[in-house]
Amino acid sequence: MICDICGKKGARIRRVTRTYGRGRSAFLIEGVPVISCPHCGESYLAAETLKEIERIRMHWRQLSTDRKVPVARFRGAA
Ligand SMILES: [Zn+2]
Repeated sequence: MICDICGKKGARIRRVTRTYGRGRSAFLIEGVPVISCPHCGESYLAAETLKEIERIRMHWRQLSTDRKVPVARFRGAA
């Protein structure tokens, strides 16, 4: 597919897990399609992906299943 940022062909979709919210209202969305481009190195979300994430954020309590997920905190330097 064509990269929205640099206009070159070869952008790929990666499926990632992202965290939203914090504390007791934190939740994960799995399988979020991130478009990443090997030419310019950008990673970005498509407009319809952002819309869907917005929808999930509004209704995440109904849309999510309870799973216990171990969480590791990264403590190294950036
Ligand atoms: Zn690009």
